[in-house]
Amino acid sequence: MTGGGHAVIAALRDALGPRALLSGDAVGARYCSDASLTGSCLPRAVLRPDTVEAVAAALRICNAAGQSVVPQGGLTGLAGGANPRADDIALSLERFAGVEEIDEASGTMTVRAGTVLESAQSVAAAAGFLLPIDLGARGSCQIGGIVATNAGGIRVLRHGQTRENVLGLEVVLADGTVITSLNKAVKNNTGYDLRQLFIGSEGTLGVVTRAVLRLRPAPAACHTALCALRSYGHVVELLKRAQAALPGLSAFEVMWESYVRFNEEAERIRHFVDRPSLTVLLEQQGAEEDAHRFEAFLADALEEELIGDALIAQSQKERDSFWAVREGHQMDRLLPGLINLDVSMAIGRLGDFAETCGQRLARRFPDAHISFYGHLADGNLHVAVSVPTSTDQAAAEVSRITYELVRQRGGSISAEHGIGTLKRPYLGYSRSAAEIELMRRMKTALDPNGILNPGKVI
Ligand SMILES: Cc1cc2nc3c(=O)[nH]c(=O)nc-3n(C[C@H](O)[C@H](O)[C@H](O)COP(=O)(O)OP(=O)(O)OC[C@H]3O[C@@H](n4cnc5c(N)ncnc54)[C@H](O)[C@@H]3O)c2cc1C
Repeated sequence: MTGGGHAVIAALRDALGPRALLSGDAVGARYCSDASLTGSCLPRAVLRPDTVEAVAAALRICNAAGQSVVPQGGLTGLAGGANPRADDIALSLERFAGVEEIDEASGTMTVRAGTVLESAQSVAAAAGFLLPIDLGARGSCQIGGIVATNAGGIRVLRHGQTRENVLGLEVVLADGTVITSLNKAVKNNTGYDLRQLFIGSEGTLGVVTRAVLRLRPAPAACHTALCALRSYGHVVELLKRAQAALPGLSAFEVMWESYVRFNEEAERIRHFVDRPSLTVLLEQQGAEEDAHRFEAFLADALEEELIGDALIAQSQKERDSFWAVREGHQMDRLLPGLINLDVSMAIGRLGDFAETCGQRLARRFPDAHISFYGHLADGNLHVAVSVPTSTDQAAAEVSRITYELVRQRGGSISAEHGIGTLKRPYLGYSRSAAEIELMRRMKTALDPNGILNPGKVI
C-alpha cells in the first residue's frame, strides 16, 4: 500500500473507530465477490459503519483522497456489481440494520439499508402486512442492495419492481452530503423524482442508507398450482386469461422442460408423470373463498385443453415443493461455474428466443446444461448454462451468443440483475449511444471524482 493509502486508512480508523474498519488479515474472503463468483480480489479494507453520519464521514474522507469505494450489501448480486478491485475500499452496510418504524396508517416501513430482506418481511408479517418485494436470495440480500439493483423477483406481476415499492429514500452522495427524503405518501410531484435516480444505480451514484417501503395488507390465503403445457402459445394464452380471471394473480413463473428435469432430480421430486415441455407455476393471493374461482379457472383451462394437467397445492409443504423446483437452490452447488443470464423482451417473442438461443448454445457447447425459466408475465427470462470445463472465455461466448439474439429481438440484456461488471461490455446492445452519454453526464455531476463503484455499469 502507498503512503497515501496508509493515510486514508488511518483517517478512516480515526473517524469511524476500529470496529468499523477491517484491514489486513481481518478482511475475510467473503468480501471478494458477489454470488456470480467472478470477483477474485480482496479489497484494501472493509468499512462497516453503523450510523448514517459514519457513512457520510467515510465518503468525505475517501472523496477528498480520491479513494474508490465499492458499496456492498448481502453480496447475492449476479452481475459482479459489488466485486472490489485490490485498490478499492468496500463499504458494507451490514452493521446498519433493522426496521426503524412501521407506520400502520400509511402502510409503510422505514428500514435501514443493511437489513436482510427476510427479516424485513418477517417484521411486516408480524404487524399484519405483506412486504411484497420477494426473491430467491431473500435470506441474504439486503434492502440497500435491493434498492441499488432495483430488484425484481417473483411478485412484480402484482406489486411491481422495487422501484414501485420505494416511497422514500436516504442516500449519501460521494462527497458525504446526506440526502434524506423519507417520504411516505404515494404522491409527491415536487420537481424531479430524485429517488428514482438512485434506484437501480448499482452503487455508482450514492450509497443508500435508509428506505421507506410500501406495505400491502397481508393476504389471508394463497392458492398455488403447477400446470403442464405443450406449447409456448398456450403459455401466453394462459397468462392472458389468468390476468383477466384471477384478480389476485401474484406469480406466473414458466419453466422449460430441462430446467424442471434438473431441479426435480436435484430435489428428488416428480410432479407430473410425463414431464411437459413447459410448466407454469401459478399463484393467486387473496381470500380463502378465492379457492373456488382458482379451481374453476384451472378446470376451464383443462377442458379447453389449454393445459394438459394441473396440480393444486393442498398444503404449505406442497406449495414449497412447487417453489423448490422453481427456485432451483441446488443448481449452484451441483453445477459449479453456472452462468446465470437474465434478459427481457416482448412476451410474444420469448418462446422463439428460448428455442433459437437453446439451439445456438447447444451447437457451440454440445455437453452443456442449458435451461430456461423466468418471470414470464414481466417478459423476463433467465438462461442457465453450465459448460463442463467452465472458463471466462466460455462465459463470454455464452453471453455474446445470447445477447446478440436479445439485441436482434429489441430486448434488454438485463431484466433485473443489473449491469455490474459482467454486462458492461454489452450495455450498448440495449441502450443507445445518446442514453449512455446521458448516464455518463449524470455520473460526473454526482460523483465528479469517480470514487463510487468505478468500472461498474458505464
Ligand atoms: C438464489 C438467487 C436468486 C435471485 N433472484 C433474484 C430475483 O428473482 N430477482 C432479482 O432482481 N435478483 C435476484 N437475484 C440477484 C440478487 O439477489 C439481487 O440483485 C439483490 O438485489 C442484490 O442484493 P444484495 O444486498 O445482495 O446486493 P449486493 O450483491 O451486495 O450488491 C449489488 C449491487 O448493489 C450495490 N449496493 C449494495 N448495497 C448498496 C447500498 N447500500 N447503497 C448503494 N449501492 C449498494 C453494490 O455496489 C452492487 O452494485 C438472485 C440472486 C440469487 C443468488
